[in-house]
Amino acid sequence: MTDGLTGRAVFAGVAGDPVAHSLSPRLMGHWIRMLGLDAAYLPFAVPPSGFEAFVRGLARTQASGLNVTLPHKEAALALADRATPAAKAVGAANLLTFHPDGILADNSDAAGFLAALEPAEPDYASSTALVLGAGGAARALVHALVTSGVKNLLISNRTADRARALAAELAPDAGIVPWEDRDAALAEADIVVNATALGLKGENDLVMDWAKARSGAIVFDSVYTPLVTGFLAGARQAGLNTIDGLDMLIGQARPSFRAFFGHDAPADPPVRPVLLEALGARP
Ligand code: NAP
Repeated sequence: MTDGLTGRAVFAGVAGDPVAHSLSPRLMGHWIRMLGLDAAYLPFAVPPSGFEAFVRGLARTQASGLNVTLPHKEAALALADRATPAAKAVGAANLLTFHPDGILADNSDAAGFLAALEPAEPDYASSTALVLGAGGAARALVHALVTSGVKNLLISNRTADRARALAAELAPDAGIVPWEDRDAALAEADIVVNATALGLKGENDLVMDWAKARSGAIVFDSVYTPLVTGFLAGARQAGLNTIDGLDMLIGQARPSFRAFFGHDAPADPPVRPVLLEALGARP
């Protein structure tokens, strides 16, 4: 264990506007401490007008990279010199790494989503997935499901045109379910995901008629504040297999940690209780 940082410390961080709500410093800080690394991970509040200059300046220091959260994910992809297939497909980057030949943009949200679902052991090849939403998070989730070889994909969004555009780009075989018919689609779905902003901060819950759902369906909510949304509470009450957005947050952070600090994030002691405490303590 290092006693404070040395001049050789590796550092990275997360840039957002705002960034005060971000759990990433707690998450990364826990892993850095557990491994006793000479490293730091910092929050950076950066307005959109200063984002590009900030990243380019940071890339000229000994920083190894940067996580990017709202509203900078598209700008992060646009300024990078290279991008991974995941970042290109999603059209946004949440992970920038700095290299002698330039800035590499990646997107680990899709991997984080798949990691969150892993304990439920989904059999993608025989599953129908229903994605609710067609914004940035939905793009990552649709990309993840398509690359995992899901058998059937259904997309439902309040604005149907956005669902159609998303399908045309990432999942041409997907079925589009009118928003008012989303409950009926539950009967077909083995995996149901909320990728809308509904339920965030306990407002405007996404209410579903879970009595129509398949028994044993896996239900995931990308929202994690609150941890148990009305969407998840209803699914849980109906005896379905529920997974909250915190597991996706942890899952998306692991590839970043490896890229920044050159170590796998330790599984033990688990970071989830640390984040639960942070969420509970948050005003
Ligand atoms: P976004 O691009 O702004 O998309 C918002 C989505 O919510 C759209 O599909 C929008 O539908 C829908 N929506 C908003 N208000 C609605 C309403 N009143 N009724 C029906 N639909 C409504 O946002 P995003 O970046 O995709 O984020 C979505 C959620 O995912 C957020 O809560 C975010 O915190 C979460 N997220 C979690 C993680 C994680 O690690 N767990 C990672 C990324 C994002 P329209 O197209 O009709 O407007």
